[in-house]
Amino acid sequence: MPEDTPIRIPRHLLPADGRFGCGPTRVRQGTLDRLAESGRSYMGTSHRRPTVRHMVGRVRSGLTDLFGLPDGYEVVLGNGGASAFWDAAAFGLIERASQHLKFGAFSSKFVGVVTGAPHLEAPEVIESPLGTHPLPSPSDRIDLYALVHNETSTGVTMPVRRVEADGLTVVDATSAAGAVPVDPGQFDVYFFSPQKAFGADGGLYVALCSPRALERIERIAGSGRWIPPFLSLSSAVSKSVNDQTYNTPALATIFMLADTVDWMNAKGGMAWSSERCADNAALLYGWAEQHPMAQPFVAEPSMRSPVGGTIDFHRPLAWAELAATLRANGIVDTEPYHKDGNHLRIGLWPSIPRSDMEALIACLDYVIEASLP
Ligand SMILES: *Cc1c(COP(=O)(O)O)cnc(C)c1O
Repeated sequence: MPEDTPIRIPRHLLPADGRFGCGPTRVRQGTLDRLAESGRSYMGTSHRRPTVRHMVGRVRSGLTDLFGLPDGYEVVLGNGGASAFWDAAAFGLIERASQHLKFGAFSSKFVGVVTGAPHLEAPEVIESPLGTHPLPSPSDRIDLYALVHNETSTGVTMPVRRVEADGLTVVDATSAAGAVPVDPGQFDVYFFSPQKAFGADGGLYVALCSPRALERIERIAGSGRWIPPFLSLSSAVSKSVNDQTYNTPALATIFMLADTVDWMNAKGGMAWSSERCADNAALLYGWAEQHPMAQPFVAEPSMRSPVGGTIDFHRPLAWAELAATLRANGIVDTEPYHKDGNHLRIGLWPSIPRSDMEALIACLDYVIEASLP
């Protein structure tokens, strides 16, 4: 694309909302309106008083419904997002040694946290090439298996199945939670942040914890190991069951999460949200498969993410120019996470209606056509 002739996508092709990023994802306008309408009654009030605690309770009960959590499971909240949860897990969830599936940027970061922890043994790391996922391997020396439901950096999804061993099955579900069905019987911890499928804002982690996980947390907390108070999962559990957090949370994030969880439940719960994402994914991957200049980055169809799709382009098309052209036309955040390949990464979230997905594809067609010599 010569720089002096910027490509202008005709207005009638553009999506109603141009946000297609993989996190933060689009926040629904209705959510923002309801937050603004709450005026003086919520924002700026104490997180230790009933108004905010009620909102935390709404999040906890809404998520219990959405995931169909069995009795004995707890919805645990803490500050710092999924990244803080990795640190908290290194202190309060791993007894001696963990096993990690490593297949992209986010799974690598958790490995990095654990590798540096002086009180833990070296982790076992099972790796697979970018664009695929490995599988866990039961082992007697492992007390925690770290899975990733959706590796957001590459757009790879994997099945969540409990590892048949004594260790806990702990799933980074940051981008899958709320958009991909999961059976709570298959995990001990399922943790995520609200700024991905829940279209809220960052800064908070949510961890759905099984009775086995809660027991592990209490055992380690009582073992005499030094745990930084801010990262204590035991504190997070005891505060959460009283609809509070250890320190002050971002009240707007909690409001927006509660609003979205209620919206999903009202629409039909996980069946509805996962169907919408699967439908968006089928449109995008189907388009890429039949386009002579494109193809899904993930070769194996069952591993293709239903929440964030990675699409490879053939030269002379180049991701940087495609993403810049889309951005100049108001379609933002399609840039890839791994910039060594030649793909775009496109959000397929529950907040994205089919009409916007179809419009995005029409825009891609237009931009590709206009970019080719
Ligand atoms: C976004 C993401 C994270 C990091 O979440 P933060 O809230 O920024 O800490 C971790 N894991 C996965 C799979 C993600 O998609």
